[in-house]
Amino acid sequence: MEHIINYLRTHRQQHLDELFDLLLIPSVSTLPEHADDIRRCAEFVAQHLSNIGLKQVEIMPTGGHPVIYAEWLEQKNVPTLLIYGHYDVQPPEPLDLWLSPPFEPTIRDGEIYARGASDDKGQFWAYIKAIEAFLKNDSVLPVNVKLLIEGEEEIGSGHLHQFVLDHAEQLKADAILLSDNSQYQRGTPTICYGTRGLVHGEIHVQTAARDLHSGSFGGLADNAIQVLADIISALKNEREQVTIPGFYDEVAMVSDAERANFESLPFDDNELKQEIGIRDVIGEEGYPPLVRRWARPTLEINGIVGGFTGEGTKTIIPAKAMAKVTMRLVPNQDPQKIADAAKAYIEQTLAPSSARVAFIGGADCRAYLTPMNHPIFEPVTRALRATYGKEPVFARTGGTIGVLSTFSNTMGVPIVMIGLCNPDDNAHAPNEHFTEELYYLGIEAAARALYELREWK
Ligand SMILES: [Zn+2]
Repeated sequence: MEHIINYLRTHRQQHLDELFDLLLIPSVSTLPEHADDIRRCAEFVAQHLSNIGLKQVEIMPTGGHPVIYAEWLEQKNVPTLLIYGHYDVQPPEPLDLWLSPPFEPTIRDGEIYARGASDDKGQFWAYIKAIEAFLKNDSVLPVNVKLLIEGEEEIGSGHLHQFVLDHAEQLKADAILLSDNSQYQRGTPTICYGTRGLVHGEIHVQTAARDLHSGSFGGLADNAIQVLADIISALKNEREQVTIPGFYDEVAMVSDAERANFESLPFDDNELKQEIGIRDVIGEEGYPPLVRRWARPTLEINGIVGGFTGEGTKTIIPAKAMAKVTMRLVPNQDPQKIADAAKAYIEQTLAPSSARVAFIGGADCRAYLTPMNHPIFEPVTRALRATYGKEPVFARTGGTIGVLSTFSNTMGVPIVMIGLCNPDDNAHAPNEHFTEELYYLGIEAAARALYELREWK
């Protein structure tokens, strides 16, 4: 293994140059004008995978942007790992807040600045460089690998769910490995073993055929914004509990061991207040902060529209209002059940007779969890300890990677997420960056993980 690490350390400049080539391509998935860039990015990655000796490299169509598939399956009696990543990126706007152009990668103060540097180009590229190092030096990999690099993660992986179902046999593996998340905190190697699920919806309220004169009809006609506000405020109680009937029925309790782990991780209310500019830390009564962040479901109002908000005064009773809502789910909540329960509660219980109220929502995905004590985490722990010279911590994430629940439902295999970048890398924001040193260490961590996992199972 040490010859691989030595090789990686003497090829850092090459690995940086290649990442820069990848970061130059503005593969923004949400904007139609970047469709050619998406295609070019997929071709760039696929070509590279062929060049380094991976087999069956293919750009495979989906209903949307294509996925890249590649494999190397030439070892006997070793596990097969499916490595997941995404080559698409978020839009870079607002451009004027970038200190250097988003698609001209630049190093400042030891940080690689570019859209996609950490999310997720720099992180999935680390695995490709680790694979290359083994193939160049040993002509074999310590494990068998399949790579699945998608192009729609930033727009919800809408077509990947079906793709995974349609190609279940081709994608079959003993475990799934990915890095599309950050370390728990700066300088802390992190194994992430769970994400939350998601339900989304819109609450539409209509109280009259049109906006009404508040002088003529105030005191007679209901107000759509008032009704919407009442509904929204009834969705949670004063203990920050969601009031949708049955919402918590299937929530898996956190084991004592996991709760102890959460409580062992540093978490400082004051630091959080500083970092994100909040005045108080709030949350569901009776649960410590990291349990609330990772292992309890939440409901948020994401946006609200209605009425008159222009300059001056307009004395109306607005007839229509709408709010967008999302809920983060945890194991074992069923997103469809939750969406149905929200609809019934909002439309039948909370809606007053004076208004037409509709909840239009849908189930996005379930949460996923690999048990913290799963044996796969032992070799991964060894790999991270050797790379970073520290014991890794175990964390969940409060966020959602939709395809993971599809993977775990179709394959039933453990999923390991290794955070390679810092938590304050501005993913999705202007001046996204990836610490140059962490990029190189990430490649070493990926190489050591492949090596250590050879005897797992
Ligand atoms: Zn990502």
